[in-house]
Amino acid sequence: MLARTCPQCGRGALFAGFARLARACPECALVYRREPGAQTGTMYLTAIVGELFAAGLIFLFWWRFDWSVRTFVLVLVPLVAAFSALFLPLAQALWVGVEYLTDLEGGEPWARLRN
Ligand SMILES: [Zn+2]
Repeated sequence: MLARTCPQCGRGALFAGFARLARACPECALVYRREPGAQTGTMYLTAIVGELFAAGLIFLFWWRFDWSVRTFVLVLVPLVAAFSALFLPLAQALWVGVEYLTDLEGGEPWARLRN
């Protein structure tokens, strides 16, 4: 998933653009986007990691700098937003992997281990 390729064949690209998940694998036709709401886990994953990142930054900056609340907000909000945007494709890739693993365990016919 970290290579951003298909979890089934390992060759097809996961993305059609930045943070734009392809509909299906161009190599083995595994469908990445099966149903509306299937990527809800991505949202939770991005929110949790983004909040942990924000909490870490707040703690670090509060400890190191004697800034006003306004300065904190002006500096940290863009950093957290940029981090969340950059993390989104990784969260999507990880979630496709999670879905694939649960489909394998569930014996879904479209999911099969590659040889
Ligand atoms: Zn594939």
